[in-house]
Amino acid sequence: MDVARPLPAYLVQRFHGWRATTYQDNKAWFRRLAESGQHPRAMVISCCDSRVHVTSIFGADEGEFFIHRNVANLVPPYSPDGTYHGTSAAVEYAVTSLGVAHIVVLGHSNCGGVKGCHDMCMGHAPALEEKTSFVGRWMDILRPGFERVKDLPDADRPRALEKEAVLVSLENLMSFPFVRDAVQGECLTLHGLWNDTGAGSLEHYDPLRGFVPV
Ligand SMILES: [Zn+2]
Repeated sequence: MDVARPLPAYLVQRFHGWRATTYQDNKAWFRRLAESGQHPRAMVISCCDSRVHVTSIFGADEGEFFIHRNVANLVPPYSPDGTYHGTSAAVEYAVTSLGVAHIVVLGHSNCGGVKGCHDMCMGHAPALEEKTSFVGRWMDILRPGFERVKDLPDADRPRALEKEAVLVSLENLMSFPFVRDAVQGECLTLHGLWNDTGAGSLEHYDPLRGFVPV
């Protein structure tokens, strides 16, 4: 691997700062985490977006959440075709090995991935329609969601599509047999959230009322 370079100084400094404070103050806790394995209560599926800060929003410590991040917090449909499926692998491990009690899909405002899907579906992003676009093909997962919001006014459609990204993911989660079995056996509950970064607010999906403030 002759492409790897030394870590930037700011990361080195921050690491040493963390080790001298957080780690030193909680050394026994970290050792216990290492020895007893992880027992997270919840899996969180959120966007890669740097503004989405799951552990900060929920004040979570190490060992609490099993977190998977991808572009636009999407879960693809169950598709056991023998190829690479990072998100499906994370869901499988969380449910069948870790036995998490909750899966939380967390969407967010001003999502670049969702905007890309919106523009692509509106015919304004030909590059995303290329077969070779990883983002475009990934965002195909959200096309059924676009169909449900396409007739909304221009100003409302992008935000509605961000919330559809949460709902499509919840629907697709239920297409995994082990998720469906765990939900029906009352060993697992699914939750949909949408976070407004600028307003600092959180909305929860209620099947009867739609997205309502937490
Ligand atoms: Zn995003």
